Amino acid sequence: MFQGDLSALKDAFCDLFFPPSCAFCGRATMDGTFLRGICETCSESILPIEPPICQRCGLSFPGLNDRAAEICGHCLADPPPYERARFGVRYDGELRRALVRFKYYRMLSLSGVLGGILIEAFHRHFTPGQFDLIIPIPISKRRLLIRGFNQSAILARLLSAHTGISADLTRLRKVKETLPQVGLPRSERVANIRNSFGVSRPRRIQGRRVLLVDDVATTGATIAEAARTLQRAKAASVDALVLAFRVTSSAQSLANSADEATADDAPDTRFARQP
Ligand SMILES: [Zn+2]
Ligand SMILES: [Zn+2]
Repeated sequence: MFQGDLSALKDAFCDLFFPPSCAFCGRATMDGTFLRGICETCSESILPIEPPICQRCGLSFPGLNDRAAEICGHCLADPPPYERARFGVRYDGELRRALVRFKYYRMLSLSGVLGGILIEAFHRHFTPGQFDLIIPIPISKRRLLIRGFNQSAILARLLSAHTGISADLTRLRKVKETLPQVGLPRSERVANIRNSFGVSRPRRIQGRRVLLVDDVATTGATIAEAARTLQRAKAASVDALVLAFRVTSSAQSLANSADEATADDAPDTRFARQP
């Protein structure tokens, strides 16, 4: 028997006793077809942020058309401190549930699938030759001790391994403890996050083209503040790629924000009490 036949037989045997299941909902499909490791139903609930989008902030606004160079009114009136921000998918449906489990319930087994969605978004908007460095949005030392990992650093490392762009996981630091951005009114988010980042050894940033990576964004205040900090350290350019964008303009989204605010504190606090 050929080597190929043997391994196909082994796969069939494994599938019979351990059928592959969806990384998001856990269901197995009868025909075993999974797109990116997730089933068709879960895949359909993941909605990409699609054009037409503003070429600076990456968000879509009513009235924007498909013209490639279009910039929204907010960015024209008050240009953001980054070149381009881009978002992968909407923070909704199965994706939202998976991110909560990944981040607050430490289901690190989801990192591969979530990283895959981020990598897909990267290729929709950027090319590896555009960057020298990938830098994740940091979390505070206290939160890192409680949670045990920085979810954005995990995503940044996966993107780095896939694109070949180096990742620097320690250069950008969270130097001020802030309230969770979610649950704060838009006006307070900017003040909450202001001056909360610092750069250690800024010379390593000087002249480099940086791609910031984050897991979820609501207003973009966090990536704007991080970009401002990197610009002060004389980065040649700063762009941002965020896995998911939380849409807050409807009552439905506000309801989601409320349960996220709970999720933001409770699980990490519970883990902290464990020995
Ligand atoms: Zn599923
Ligand atoms: Zn814009």
